Amino acid sequence: MNDNPWTRAMKQLENAASKFSVEPLLLARLKNPDRVIEVSVPIKMDDGSVGMYQGFRVQHNNDRGPYKGGLRYHPHVDMDEVKALSFWMTMKNAVIDVPFGGGKGGVSVDPKKLSEAELERLTREFARKLFPFIGPNIDVPAPDVNTNAKIMQWILEEYSKQKGEETLAVVTGKPLERGGSEGRTEATGLGGCFALLALLRATGRNPKGLTVAIQGIGNVGSYLAQYLHDEGLSVVALSDSKGGIYVPAGINNIQDVLTCKEEKGSVETCYCVGSVCDLNNKEKLGARDITPQEILELPVDIVVPAALENAITKDNVDKIKASIILEMANGPTTLDADEVLNKRGVMVIPDILANSGGVAVSYFEWYQNMHKENWDKKDVFDKLREKMDRAFDEVYKASKEFGVSLREAAYITALRRLSSGN
Ligand code: NAD
Repeated sequence: MNDNPWTRAMKQLENAASKFSVEPLLLARLKNPDRVIEVSVPIKMDDGSVGMYQGFRVQHNNDRGPYKGGLRYHPHVDMDEVKALSFWMTMKNAVIDVPFGGGKGGVSVDPKKLSEAELERLTREFARKLFPFIGPNIDVPAPDVNTNAKIMQWILEEYSKQKGEETLAVVTGKPLERGGSEGRTEATGLGGCFALLALLRATGRNPKGLTVAIQGIGNVGSYLAQYLHDEGLSVVALSDSKGGIYVPAGINNIQDVLTCKEEKGSVETCYCVGSVCDLNNKEKLGARDITPQEILELPVDIVVPAALENAITKDNVDKIKASIILEMANGPTTLDADEVLNKRGVMVIPDILANSGGVAVSYFEWYQNMHKENWDKKDVFDKLREKMDRAFDEVYKASKEFGVSLREAAYITALRRLSSGN
């Protein structure tokens, strides 16, 4: 049961709510999403056949503003997953203090099996089905796993066509030239870096030389890797869904590794010396291959799950050696694993805090669209740092006040905001 994300989300809510008095009506509302939308998405495939997909959007709660959250394209997308992710968005948006409620959506599809044209038809059809339920003041989707700026642009175009006017603020994470914000692509990774630095400051640890292993180097993991490296941490291992690399002495040329991954489709053999990346360098670097599962169990200071849910479970938690876990993925730790980590004194920076930089800059994008403004990247990053530092401080204070983990403290912080109505 623990591995069902919705069951876990509700348990996390109950744990936090038991620590202080939460209005029963608010609790009941948080346990039941406002609206659950399920649509069929039939499309014409390139070979002339018809492909049929299921699309979901859950509008969890809009007490603090329009529903806000990503759209995910993945074969495992189902209603329980989307419901849990939408709940976590409500809590996350309250923790990072943006005037949004929580929503999430997705299509149950393996996008890697679709051509670009099929992906576009799927997205446009999904957008047409969502049209009556979304809008700048109603519900504002964004990218998530396997979705990106181009997909957001297709949604923007379909929505604007139906509406009869260009409506930039209907989605965030758009391309820069179509109303996107400077810094949105980097935001989640950079926000995670700020959250980690804040924890290290609060606990008196020097970031320099701390070792890091990152599972998942998509949008989030790849920027995070670069920012942590820039701050003097030693990124020693990176993986994607196919495999990974472990360089105990530290990966010094993150950008070359990422370029290699783009070219080869996986990071698996990207052992880079200078800009030459191949298997022949493995021995020279004293490196070795690593599986996406093993990467979490390396003898490092910080482990970063940045892929999908349920990465840390009762089956591997005892093998985890890191003293800090930075949860960049949503819901990467199961309940029973979380209990073990707490007992062992492992510091977990919870997802709803660690990865909230993405939605913070999504809010900045929406705000710029609504007010016809354009902020430069430095401005965006400064504002992001301010938001992340403030959110971290509040969560950290709550953890001391209530004597609880950072996760429970983040929930308490969110519940306080939702309770007070601001
Ligand atoms: P992405 O699709 O760009 O990248 C996902 C990465 O995870 C890829 O490298 C993929 O190969 C890897 N992966 C997939 N399955 C894996 C497995 N079983 N084992 C190991 N690696 C695996 O997605 P993303 O946008 O980087 O999102 C990653 C996580 O961060 C998700 O949980 C997402 O919900 C969360 N998140 C993303 C954002 C954002 O702004 N993109 C914001 C907040 C949270």
